[in-house]
Amino acid sequence: MDYLFVIILGGLWGSFANVCIYRMPLNKGVVSGRSYCPKCKKQITWKDNIPIISYFLLNGKCRKCKKPISSQYTLIEFLSILFFTIIYFLYGTTLTTLLLMILSLSFIIIFFIDLKHFIIPNEITFSMMALGFIKSFDPNLNSLFPNYINSLIGGLLGYGIIWSIIFFYKQVRKKEGMGLGDAKLFAVIGFWFGWLAIPFIIFLSSIIALLSVVPSLLKNSRTMSSQIPFGPHIIIGTLIYLFFENSFKSLLF
Ligand SMILES: [Zn+2]
Repeated sequence: MDYLFVIILGGLWGSFANVCIYRMPLNKGVVSGRSYCPKCKKQITWKDNIPIISYFLLNGKCRKCKKPISSQYTLIEFLSILFFTIIYFLYGTTLTTLLLMILSLSFIIIFFIDLKHFIIPNEITFSMMALGFIKSFDPNLNSLFPNYINSLIGGLLGYGIIWSIIFFYKQVRKKEGMGLGDAKLFAVIGFWFGWLAIPFIIFLSSIIALLSVVPSLLKNSRTMSSQIPFGPHIIIGTLIYLFFENSFKSLLF
């Protein structure tokens, strides 16, 4: 019963994530107006808008114009159900669960917006920085989260390191490698997980970014200086860090 509730919650918030991913880069409000088909602009009724289920009932096509619906919507709903379920399995009915569900949803939104538009919305990074810092004043949260001093140092360090990389890269190469959005995303991670997470996640996300460009470098379809969205790599790096958190820390202590 509990899991059924978590799954429904994941599906509903997953479809909210879809709305954010679609509308935020266009600077449209995320709460105004009802959902509509991006192809024929007709409104979608509630029964054609049930997370995951409607996609299969409609055979992946819009009821009105019969054009294919992007399977990305279903993927995003599936991902948020998956994250919500894993988080609930690990942390049960706690404030930690609620916080991690909010963060995971933000990560999903950032991942897909950055992948397509090369931007990371300030609305999300600023509110996640604030939430990450505020929550660190609660001493009863899971040990995954740092205290407020560690959180503050983490936020500043995360932003500072990436800002300096951008600054020096600009001096040397006369152009930008990463953007300030990446620096803000690292500030979010620092505020949420403390300063120690920063060097590990910088290392992990650089490796992942490098591995992801190797195939296209070999095919010569990209040069080393092509722009790549760094946000998705940072997010995958963060997930790996959180998964192996204890092993990483035991490398040091
Ligand atoms: Zn349509």
